Amino acid sequence: MAKTWNYKTPGLPSELFNQNELVPGPTKEEVRVLTISKARLSEGFTVIDVGCGTGGLTVEAALQVAPKGKVYAIDEDEAAITLTKSNIQKFEVENIVSLSKGKAPEALLKLPSAEAILIGGGGASLRTIIQTAHYKLKSNGRIVINAILLETATTAIAELKAFGYKDIDVAQVSMAKGKQINSGGTMMVARNPITIISATKP
Ligand code: SAH
Repeated sequence: MAKTWNYKTPGLPSELFNQNELVPGPTKEEVRVLTISKARLSEGFTVIDVGCGTGGLTVEAALQVAPKGKVYAIDEDEAAITLTKSNIQKFEVENIVSLSKGKAPEALLKLPSAEAILIGGGGASLRTIIQTAHYKLKSNGRIVINAILLETATTAIAELKAFGYKDIDVAQVSMAKGKQINSGGTMMVARNPITIISATKP
């Protein structure tokens, strides 16, 4: 059987992922490209994905760290776990991903330390999630937080500064995608901006 994705470059087309209305994601493909790039992944790395949703970032990270690396994906929502499971099967990364239902920050405590931690969910617990992630991240490891809300972004920046993180980078992506309209023209349709905050653990 042909593989669903045969390329090394990130940014899997969103329509390839199994999706449903109960679960957010996948993170838009252009945002995934930047997120994975900011995480600075290599073959063999261990990655933690906090709030895996549809599994968009989980699958992207797994393809980067394969065949020897590991991605620990957690989500507090059962529907997200089921959907991510179907996507890790679709992209044939079941051996790389360890999926578990649990709420961060508590669920993070059980996981091994990692070279990179991706945070895509957290809401009111974001501050304590970053604090726990800090203890799970190896020295020189990378943390990447995708924020839809301004409050998430400012909390993340303040926490990373408080822990003395290096190279704190804040990038805001305002994406517009072309949509074919009846006249035959291409109309650009704006998407909500996403703030990607990344940094290196000292
Ligand atoms: N990056 C994902 C989309 C993430 S949506 C993708 O590409 O598919 C954010 C997810 O975070 C949701 O599924 C939500 O259930 C989860 N989430 C939010 N707060 C959480 C917490 N404290 N612990 C675990 N999961 C959480």
